Amino acid sequence: LKKFGDKCNNVKIGIMGGTFDPIHYAHLATAEFIRDNYKLDKILFIPSGNPPHKKGNITNKNDRYNMVLLSTINNDDFIVSDIEIKREKSTYTIDTLKDLKQKYKNIEIYFITGSDAICDIETWKDVEGNFKLANFIAATRPGISLLKANEKIKDLKDKYDANIESVYVPSLDISSTYIREQLNKHKTIRYLVPELVQEYIYNKKLYSSGE
Ligand code: ATP
Ligand code: MG
Repeated sequence: LKKFGDKCNNVKIGIMGGTFDPIHYAHLATAEFIRDNYKLDKILFIPSGNPPHKKGNITNKNDRYNMVLLSTINNDDFIVSDIEIKREKSTYTIDTLKDLKQKYKNIEIYFITGSDAICDIETWKDVEGNFKLANFIAATRPGISLLKANEKIKDLKDKYDANIESVYVPSLDISSTYIREQLNKHKTIRYLVPELVQEYIYNKKLYSSGE
């Protein structure tokens, strides 16, 4: 973002937030598809530091961050932010949005989520604040009822005057959970994650993987 200088006037930034444990091709394809369709200037990937909502063990945040870096290295429109990785306490989207808005006064934010995440959004800290600071784009996700998601979106618009659009994204039925399960069973994850991520996982023996 620094490249835009202090002005950052009317720059449209897509944010792809997630635990990315690990990042996979559905994250990348969704971000790219939305960048193109909404003519966004950049997509900022923000791996969450200490997500309060994720249960169970999550992978060390530096490893998750490194895998996001490796995945985005060959796309000039993708940038990775360590804003949440650097935070010591629980990380909340609202704090990140406030920080970004303060630092880059005139950016317009498009927060990208899958339709599962939009359905859960009322559990996020300061729902209303989130909607004030960003537009939301809910990408279709296999396994999540579009009808249900659209009902929820209508509900959120009425309740919070939220700016949310539901967008069809070519489906990829991949989740980080599925990848972790495959690794746990010593099964293949090839073509589900970028090659560099696969190598990183094997080298660092993440997710009790073994080739
Ligand atoms: P986990 O299974 O651990 O929850 P995940 O695959 O859902 O992992 P997250 O890091 O939880 O990945 O998700 C980050 C964002 O990416 C969320 O907004 C989520 O809805 C979205 N997302 C993840 N997978 C897909 C997919 N296959 N299609 C569309 N959106 C997705
Ligand atoms: Mg998830």
